[in-house]
Amino acid sequence: MKKIVIAIDGHSSGGKSTMARELAKDIAYIYIDTGAMYRAVTLYCLQQGLFEGNTLHEERLRQEMDNLRISFQLNLQTGRPDTYLNGKMVEKEIRSMEVSNKVSPVSALGFVRKAMVAQQQAMGREKGIVMDGRDIGTVVFPQAELKIFVTASPEIRAQRRLKELMARGEQATYEEVFQNVVTRDHLDSTREESPLRQAANAIVLDNSAMSVGEQREWLLEQYRKAVAT
Ligand code: C5P
Repeated sequence: MKKIVIAIDGHSSGGKSTMARELAKDIAYIYIDTGAMYRAVTLYCLQQGLFEGNTLHEERLRQEMDNLRISFQLNLQTGRPDTYLNGKMVEKEIRSMEVSNKVSPVSALGFVRKAMVAQQQAMGREKGIVMDGRDIGTVVFPQAELKIFVTASPEIRAQRRLKELMARGEQATYEEVFQNVVTRDHLDSTREESPLRQAANAIVLDNSAMSVGEQREWLLEQYRKAVAT
């Protein structure tokens, strides 16, 4: 069967990663979570003291970009890919509220995007990939054979995110998570470099009232149609 590129974009905490990961498992494709890459760059900034309050030392980050190695390795226990920053597994750290609160300004920087997009395009060169993010169908793979744009109400997305954080033992309130979701949507959609946009030929999925199982079936159906054409 022909191999394709599947781009899943959409708003923050809309369940893109879960959908993309499950689909990749179902059809034996590689799954790449591009949000994890921007989160890893943000974690690097925090660890290296590149933030002073909310101000980022952009020049220092620009000079240090070449020192940053981001990779993924499949965790055989969880069946999920773990994110590595310079050889260290950082899956838990990159999902913290601290990183969530700082990631949008980092991902808005042109030189950061350029470096990440080049890596993402290299990962998808052989196709057979499901990639989720904000600009996959518009910038990274504008020729992707299947593009999905996922959304849901901000209240539902905040509830889902809070549940995820709690399950991992993170402390957060609904109000704090809701604010983060709304602020990130705004920053990601209004930035100059590759803003979050629905690609003209993307299929929109509002999953507010859908279970994970229903989304999985729906997505498999879109995949079957895409490979049949
Ligand atoms: O997908 P996730 O919520 O983990 O992404 C974290 C952040 O990374 C987003 O809020 C956005 O600022 C940035 N991002 C991006 N482009 C992508 C994926 C994520 O700018 N392709």
